[in-house]
Amino acid sequence: MAKAKYVYFFGEGKADGDAKMKELLGGKGANLAEMTNLGIPVPPGFTVTTEVCGSFYENGKKYPEGFKEEALIQLRKLEKLMGKKLGDADDPLLVSVRSGAAVSMPGMMDTILNLGMNDKAVVSLAAKTGNPRFAWDAYRRFIQMFGDVVMGVPHDEFEAILEAAKKARKVELDTGLEVKDLEKLVADYKKVVKKHAKLDFPQDPEEQMWGAIDAVFGSWMNERAIKYRELNSIKGLKGTAVTVQSMVFGNFGDDSGTGVCFSRDPSTGKNEFYGEYLMNAQGEDVVAGIRTPEKIATLAKRNKKVYDQLVAIKDRLEHHFHDMQDMEFTVQQGELFLLQTRNGKRAGAAAIKCAVDMVAEGLIDKNTAIMRVSHEHLDQLLHPMVDPKAIKAAKSLTQGLNASPGAACGKIVFTAKEAEEWAELGERVLLVRKDTSPEDIGGMVVAEGILTSTGGMTSHAAVVARGMGTPCVAGAKGVSVQGKKVVIGDKTFKEGDWMTIDGSTGDVYAGELPLVAPKISKEIEAFLAWCDEVRAGSVRGTVKGFDVRTNADQPEDAKRAFAFGAQGVGLCRTEHMFFDKEKLVHFRAMILADDEQIRKDALKKILPLQKKDFFGIFKAMEGKPVTIRLLDPPLHEFVPHTKEDVAELAKQLGIKAKDLQPKIDKLHESNPMLGHRGCRLAVTYPEIYDMQVEAIVLAAVDCVKKGLPVKPEIMIPIVCDEKELALLRPSAERIVKSVLEKAKVKMDIQIGTMIEVPRAALLAEKIAAYADFFSFGTNDLTQMTFAFSRDDVASFLPVYMEKELLEVDPFKSVDEEGVGILMDWATTKGRSVKPNFKVGICGEQGGDPATIDFCFRTGLNYVSCSPFRVPIARLAGAQAVIRNSKK
Ligand code: ADP
Ligand code: MG
Ligand code: MG
Repeated sequence: MAKAKYVYFFGEGKADGDAKMKELLGGKGANLAEMTNLGIPVPPGFTVTTEVCGSFYENGKKYPEGFKEEALIQLRKLEKLMGKKLGDADDPLLVSVRSGAAVSMPGMMDTILNLGMNDKAVVSLAAKTGNPRFAWDAYRRFIQMFGDVVMGVPHDEFEAILEAAKKARKVELDTGLEVKDLEKLVADYKKVVKKHAKLDFPQDPEEQMWGAIDAVFGSWMNERAIKYRELNSIKGLKGTAVTVQSMVFGNFGDDSGTGVCFSRDPSTGKNEFYGEYLMNAQGEDVVAGIRTPEKIATLAKRNKKVYDQLVAIKDRLEHHFHDMQDMEFTVQQGELFLLQTRNGKRAGAAAIKCAVDMVAEGLIDKNTAIMRVSHEHLDQLLHPMVDPKAIKAAKSLTQGLNASPGAACGKIVFTAKEAEEWAELGERVLLVRKDTSPEDIGGMVVAEGILTSTGGMTSHAAVVARGMGTPCVAGAKGVSVQGKKVVIGDKTFKEGDWMTIDGSTGDVYAGELPLVAPKISKEIEAFLAWCDEVRAGSVRGTVKGFDVRTNADQPEDAKRAFAFGAQGVGLCRTEHMFFDKEKLVHFRAMILADDEQIRKDALKKILPLQKKDFFGIFKAMEGKPVTIRLLDPPLHEFVPHTKEDVAELAKQLGIKAKDLQPKIDKLHESNPMLGHRGCRLAVTYPEIYDMQVEAIVLAAVDCVKKGLPVKPEIMIPIVCDEKELALLRPSAERIVKSVLEKAKVKMDIQIGTMIEVPRAALLAEKIAAYADFFSFGTNDLTQMTFAFSRDDVASFLPVYMEKELLEVDPFKSVDEEGVGILMDWATTKGRSVKPNFKVGICGEQGGDPATIDFCFRTGLNYVSCSPFRVPIARLAGAQAVIRNSKK
């Protein structure tokens, strides 16, 4: 077996590696090789592979056999090419030792510049270049970096000495120091090294090089690098590569400099050359912010030739990599060198603009453009944000779950009722509660934002807030609501105090921070239209297209979702309609009624009100399918809880409060989510569903009579056995038929079921015989498959994640291994009975990109999500199509 190659050379227009070898050479090394091959001026050097780093860690920090010899051969080759030798007494070669993994981790690992410097080299370099200031500056920088990174000398110690030197000389910038000062700095630095490391500063350049390589490997496992990989879910990398590269000097004098530039503006995406540079400086100075850098355009005035060359190179690199480039360059005495290029990180707005522009320019195709915009990018653009300038100065008080994106500020209130009252008076309010319940809906609607101290990503507050597009931070454990005040850390806030929450990050701030509004630009619209084309064009067996629907309970939600591009309503929850004040009275009367007649009378009063809501939703959706779920939650959710409410209801019902209370108690269930709910309600009280079906059909008939296109679908929840449908379907059909006949209208209304009880998934084949479609209610399906109560997960789920018992929150992203099998089984079995059987998802996970990919692979016809997630789902759906059709 041939021995692995450990070291790859680049220089003089030729490199052993290329851009495709990022896994092995790291992003930096691979692109240095590529630029060399392109004939772009790059200082020569060699790259040690990530495999050497991997093996270094596997074998107790020892190099693999043969590596050192191979590296020395490449070093000799470099010396020969440069005509200089590392540590040479007459003309020393200096190199940088740079880190670089396959995925860019900016600033997380270490790099050392000016290696090869020692007491002799500094003298010969000063003589040879005739620039002693430069030579001593390079030496002191080297001791500082090497001392810090390799020998573990605290960085501050060097800084303190440098500060003292500047003070003594009465200058602000290090460029103001003279040769004498720098010589003294070097001597002082060496003393500090000796004091801390108990060693003299190493003079042997090869020893320096091995020390630096070890340290760069070591930085792969430093705390910040590990944290960065964790935060960005970077997994499965072997380690970092190390590039040893001959130095070029931006600190040579006023004809030299260094900078960072982007081929397009990384925050707006405008096709304008963007960047900064510093004259007479070395690479790290630009980032460190010691001096304020100058705008790249001014370089044209300083050195037109270099500027033009740089512009030509950035154009060339952008064309070559078909993406916006982020580059590092150095000018030494008027000569330009490129030191790095990579695809630039960009803000959301820039991601879309670059993608759209590059398609127009013919640089990339539409599919590439779609894959290049992340859902995080798009999400940034759809919600108000805290002004980035204000965030810097603000301090987050605590962090909860980022339950519903966007930032909001308002005066804090502690009850839904107060929220409504304050809002009525024109105040902007932020609702702060331990948790919320359906009763709070009125206050939630008017609140700018919602903050809760308990509950998870699918807690009531989180689900409702996402549905309304209201920013929400949920389950913020650091927030303690105590009556009319809230305590966060050592700060106490009372009713009416200003607070700001950021539902995109989970942060909570004191006071009113400035917000910036989202804008749906022409570019976003054009971009999302491409996403729609891709989804519409997809074919999986008998399934054509991959739609995005929305969960919308009110006409307002439906309108918003339609404007965001929803292709239908996948879930209209009818119970939310009952919490409306007008209907709640009648509904309460209905559920607390003793006999059927009273119930029917109450339902009669509700019917026209429901009909009106349905009509509004149908109208908003302009003939796109609207799936309406019949009543689902346990009845006790609707009964009054406080004494005053009970008294009020008793009055309305014309009975005594003491007679009402027992009826309310009777509705109590110990396990309501597994209790008397969903189709079970209709089995015991058929008149509820009868009324709802009638309202749906009447609303549809109204649409037809007004010439509006309409496509209702009726959905029955919590089914666990086909016999439930066998009972309920015919009665629904009877009502549909009679209403349509009476109105002399012809219409096809599908009746389907939710699959949310595991048993229903298992019996899908039998159930499909009675259903026109399935929709996976993955909130309940997850809850029942895991036996995790979704209202109580907050107490243990975070620990499960921390201890890695679960990789992702199954209420956020469908658990493919377990719940996913049920979904796959039910889909397959359903279609074994009816080949063109329609299947969708309407749980909260329907807006999650990973879940959307899974739904595509499983053959679902559509996903449905909250209105504000619709654009994200349009993108994620298109990405799923492209990703999965590549093979
Ligand atoms: P990072 O990944 O933190 O950006 P780099 O390896 O890119 O680290 O190096 C840090 C700085 O040093 C950059 O500004 C880079 O341009 C500069 N630099 C690295 N190697 C050389 C070199 N051989 N000559 C001149 N400057 C260099
Ligand atoms: Mg860099
Ligand atoms: Mg459900």
